[in-house]
Amino acid sequence: AKVWKLAKRPEGMPKKEDFVCVEEELACEDGDVIIEAEFLSVDPYMRYMIKQIPLDVPVTGTQVAKVIESKNPEWPVGTYVVSPSGWRSHTRLTEKDFKADNFFQKPMKLPEMGDLPKSLGLGILGMPGNTAYFGFLEICRPKAGDTVLVNAAAGAVGSAVIQIAKIKGCKVIAFSGSDETGSVDQRPWGRPCLQLQNSKHWTVHCWEALSQAAPDKINCFFENVGGQFTAEALPHMAERGRMAICGVISEYNDDDKDSGVVAMTSPLNPATILWKQLAVEGFIVTRWFDRWMEGIDQMKQWISEGKVKYKETVVKGFDKMPEAFIGLFLGENTGKAIVAV
Ligand code: NDP
Repeated sequence: AKVWKLAKRPEGMPKKEDFVCVEEELACEDGDVIIEAEFLSVDPYMRYMIKQIPLDVPVTGTQVAKVIESKNPEWPVGTYVVSPSGWRSHTRLTEKDFKADNFFQKPMKLPEMGDLPKSLGLGILGMPGNTAYFGFLEICRPKAGDTVLVNAAAGAVGSAVIQIAKIKGCKVIAFSGSDETGSVDQRPWGRPCLQLQNSKHWTVHCWEALSQAAPDKINCFFENVGGQFTAEALPHMAERGRMAICGVISEYNDDDKDSGVVAMTSPLNPATILWKQLAVEGFIVTRWFDRWMEGIDQMKQWISEGKVKYKETVVKGFDKMPEAFIGLFLGENTGKAIVAV
């Protein structure tokens, strides 16, 4: 097996040299299976994991893999799995793995995909799709006619939120990084009003744009970015608005932000939250692990009805894992970022 580990703890923006690929021998014993990765996911949360994991373990991550050797009748050769095996080309799964009861440990059979690509099990029909589905519906609690604000909107989660919001009859204001990912014409998933914010440069300020587009009118804010964006958007919330804090990608490479100092500079102004009577709630999608298939089945149905479209940015080659991951912080992906082995 080829396995990516940390060569050293990354500081700030991760670099290719922070990672090292090593080889390992695997043996398949009674009750075990060996899986071979076909698609691996790179996700922003991995930036948090590599602040914490020991240097000698695989980088955390999920993959779609095929059973290529089996001593377990419930998982015969040829079975496709979605497995939290990390950045590994091949993995030995044991009874202990199969009995785990949480997303970060438990391999699951790949949902029936029909004609759809298996890689969607890492995107719209997997964790990011469920993040959009549960996070938006359960925490933003959208009503028809609501105005919804989404950032990192061309990405895996954001693009799904936009489409669910439209299905629910909401008006959507979407921000993404570049003209290419953000332009109304090129976007495959609908018609956001605005594309204004670039990961590297602010082309138009969120504050000014929202002042024109939706002053005090945002009922639902699905937050993927954090930092300055939050500071500028929050005052534009409507009374009794709901903010789902899904992610703060603009802060993940900022190591100081983990120290608690962030409280001093928080863009979440308590007075705004008070006077507008906002409901602000963070969430981790694994909260809905016991309802996992509900989200996937619904997204699959919406895809079959043509109501939800998906896009993937596929990087070819297991050796490109670090580059694909770093690309997330450069805005290189549109839709779900995937590595195909
Ligand atoms: P994306 O597919 O959206 O990829 C990340 C995108 O974020 C980039 O393409 C880039 O898009 C944008 N971005 C990167 N750096 C910055 C920056 N400094 N400022 C603004 N935008 C930036 O990733 P996901 O859809 O997988 O994740 C989106 C968010 O959801 C993340 O914050 C992630 O941590 C969070 N998440 C949370 C989960 C939960 O359970 N709470 C589960 C899954 C994801 P561009 O520049 O083109 O806009």
